[in-house]
Amino acid sequence: MNPTQTSATDPQGSLAARTVALLGRVPDGLLIDGVWRPAEGDRTFTVSDPATGLPLVRIADASPRDALDALASADRAFPAWARVAPRERAELLRAAFEELQRRRDEFALLMTLEMGKPLQESFGEVAYGGEFLRWFSEEAVRIQGRYGITPEGTGRVVVSQHPVGPCYLITPWNFPLAMATRKIAPALAAGCTVVVKPASLTPLTTSLFAQVLLDVGVPAGVVNVVPSTKSGPVSAAILDDPRVRKLSFTGSTPVGRDLLARAAPGVLRTSMELGGNAPFLVFADADLDAAVAGALTAKFRNIGQACTAANRFFVHASLVEEFTARVTEAVAAFETGAGTQPGVTIGPLIDSRAVAKSEELVADAVARGATVRTGGHAVEGPGSFFEATVLADVPADAALMREEIFGPVLAITTFESEDEAVRLANDTEYGLVSYVYTRDLARAQRMIERLATGMMGLNVGVVSNAAAPFGGWKESGLGREGGPEGIREYLQTKYTLTPDPFA
Ligand code: NAP
Repeated sequence: MNPTQTSATDPQGSLAARTVALLGRVPDGLLIDGVWRPAEGDRTFTVSDPATGLPLVRIADASPRDALDALASADRAFPAWARVAPRERAELLRAAFEELQRRRDEFALLMTLEMGKPLQESFGEVAYGGEFLRWFSEEAVRIQGRYGITPEGTGRVVVSQHPVGPCYLITPWNFPLAMATRKIAPALAAGCTVVVKPASLTPLTTSLFAQVLLDVGVPAGVVNVVPSTKSGPVSAAILDDPRVRKLSFTGSTPVGRDLLARAAPGVLRTSMELGGNAPFLVFADADLDAAVAGALTAKFRNIGQACTAANRFFVHASLVEEFTARVTEAVAAFETGAGTQPGVTIGPLIDSRAVAKSEELVADAVARGATVRTGGHAVEGPGSFFEATVLADVPADAALMREEIFGPVLAITTFESEDEAVRLANDTEYGLVSYVYTRDLARAQRMIERLATGMMGLNVGVVSNAAAPFGGWKESGLGREGGPEGIREYLQTKYTLTPDPFA
């Protein structure tokens, strides 16, 4: 639906009117030195609604020179921001949390418009994304060092923590708010200033959120925002400049690898939240009701477009038919449509390339012997929709067992023994998250020790929580976001030796 048209479920056009008013409030410039300004040469680009393919707005398109202006702004603001009292930084973050909750309707609608997820999931993201502001407002006042005596007693060791400096933050399109707050909140709490480059497919939520930070009193230059269609050259300009001291990236593993190489000459601190290929294990002793409910959440949240999405379902042979029948019945009842419409559970994929990828992965699996239990096809436009799909008997050599599906396709295969399940689950270069359903405590403990992932959902289908260290092993990344670990990514340690004061 064109946002300016009415629909059957919105006969008064209230959604259309709210949409037009909301888009009018989204800043359309680059945020540099606390001011929204045009890009070099007045260049702009279009942001579109994946549910319709129609344009929403045009916004400024940063050039590499604009990016360096933003970095200069972050660099100028850094010394003063680093000296702001932790309590004051904490209270600004807390005020941003409150303001975000007060304006949750706006943020939820904006995310659904630019990214496509159903409105109720966007409300969930406002809550989840907001929690990083609240959590790191609480962590800002708990940055601690230590004082100790050397073993020989002749010196004193003072260990202190210091903000790393101006940071460059790159976020993906799939969680437009939470991926930004998960980086900005700990950076600001630690005393760092930032340049944020949101994904060009979904930059609007970040800009509206940056305005919230200005509104609550975050000083000019502390947060800078450079939406751009030239992410490569813009990032290269910043990473090649000695003023930047930290890169935090969330996105795909191939891009992350290139950025790590780009960050190497400056020996930058890096945090990398990269791709996943999550296994979902259902053992013979699992609570099947819980496993089915968890599977639906772990797979279809965000229309399957989450790094934590369960990618490969390994179900014990004794349960596989019942598990498959039950998930198929539930998935066949899902409603596909624009995320703004009531009752919709499956919104559009982000773009037509994502639809083509799901189509190819399903066709490949079927050609190798998988069977389609429900779905399996792209939905005719407008918009970029793919049916919620269940595949059974998926063979090990299907491409979707190796690659992130990033779409609403639930792929089931079986195992016989625990050793086989562990071998299959770990047979990937990724190591972000795993899901395990079992009622056997000893088996659950063995899974904690044997599964090579940075996170594990034990009888739950979602692991994300602001109070927990989110991050992966192997090629899924470096560093952690959230939890007490999250702020350490933006701090550097200094050790000072002093003489024995009694000598
Ligand atoms: P992506 O293509 O890697 O893009 C991520 C970000 O990097 C975007 O802002 C993108 O901007 C930018 N980018 C792309 N090419 C770049 C380059 N050459 N140099 C610098 N920046 C560049 O990933 P995506 O498609 O947006 O997101 C999906 C991926 O993110 C999946 O692999 C998913 O698993 C991963 N992800 C991981 C986590 C986690 O916490 N581990 C969370 C969410 C998503 P443009 O798009 O504007 O070019």
